[in-house]
Amino acid sequence: MINILSSRIEEIGYEELLNWEGVHYAKIEIGGKKYDAYRVIHDTSLGPSKGGIRFHENVSEEELKMLSLLMSLKNSLMELPYGGAKGGVKVNPKTLSREELRELSKRYAIAFRDVIGTWKDIPAPDVNTNSQIIAWMLDAYQNSVGTRDIGMFTSKPVELGGINFREISTSFGGFVIVDYIAKNIERKNLTIAIQGAGNVGGNLAKMLYEAGYRVIAISDSRSGIYNKDGLNIQEALSYKEKNGNFEGYKAEQIDNKELLELDVDVLIPAALELQIDERNYKYIKAKWIVEMANNPVDWRVDRMLKSYIVPDILANSGGVIGSYMEWVYNLTGNYLDENTMRERTKERILNKFIRLLQRNRDNMREEALREACERIIRAKRLRK
Ligand code: NAD
Repeated sequence: MINILSSRIEEIGYEELLNWEGVHYAKIEIGGKKYDAYRVIHDTSLGPSKGGIRFHENVSEEELKMLSLLMSLKNSLMELPYGGAKGGVKVNPKTLSREELRELSKRYAIAFRDVIGTWKDIPAPDVNTNSQIIAWMLDAYQNSVGTRDIGMFTSKPVELGGINFREISTSFGGFVIVDYIAKNIERKNLTIAIQGAGNVGGNLAKMLYEAGYRVIAISDSRSGIYNKDGLNIQEALSYKEKNGNFEGYKAEQIDNKELLELDVDVLIPAALELQIDERNYKYIKAKWIVEMANNPVDWRVDRMLKSYIVPDILANSGGVIGSYMEWVYNLTGNYLDENTMRERTKERILNKFIRLLQRNRDNMREEALREACERIIRAKRLRK
């Protein structure tokens, strides 16, 4: 994966960004088993590094390098005062008890306490991590360092200095884009398919459904459902919450392959990376792909797809914008009401989206990449 990104960055002439400031590694032992844990810092020229922590079996140094580079690009594109980082533990958290998960989270924060910091590196949740895990990490960090500083993690529970908006901010950013496409480019009665029903996919599906949009398919790692007239998302997600997945829900069952290949106006990959690649790009019919996951489309097939691609570094930036608002609140004590946060997020995302559309609708990724790379390079030069 890292090779794909690296060669594209090289191709457009920004190879100086292919250096990582730090790859930090620890082995964490829980219940007699040892797990590989990482925190990878790509670049801090624009400010302290920022990026999530994921708990997943596929976590590797290479994957985190790629994701930390994407974070640098996203923060730069969205003009946030941050560099990029990513962390993770190679583990299937479903195999851990709650007690073990808590222990793993706390040990992770202690293992990387010298790397993390309000003005150094600011983690947040990612795949299979959430605000409870961040609460455990925050507590372990604070006790270990001897502080009550709270700005070194975002997506905290509200009681520990978080903001309500952060939980839905990634999905809200995606909603703003789909809503703009429907009202200004395509038609109100869009058909939409969403891969992934977790924090990002699930919340986005709910927002779209509540706004009257037609989500005709949604899936998780085990199951998927389809109804050509539109699903009752509220009901489907409650069913999943009760039963663990969509199996047995009163709609046609489809698998992830079928979902990705549906003839829809908007396809929203909101699960994992590299879901559309050399194997399936020929079968993708969606007019628009709004990349809510990080790197769901292999960059090598971008130009072979007929779809307009709204790149991840814009489409899912609502998450880091929400985190930025939480961090500013932690630094200043000034709390903005949720409507103001929504308005500011919408404005930031739409301004950028409209500019990319106007410059090059057929290759928004390249436009976004160039802009993001250039801002980082300018910051680097100013420091020399
Ligand atoms: P999550 O763990 O809450 O949800 C992931 C969802 O994807 C789950 O429904 C899971 O069942 C599903 N899934 C996993 N493997 C799948 C597969 N092979 N096929 C289909 N579905 C599969 O994670 P999340 O926070 O919703 O993150 C989803 C994506 O969005 C990730 O790529 C993440 O990096 C990205 N992202 C998240 C945020 C955020 O704020 N949470 C911000 C920016 C980007």
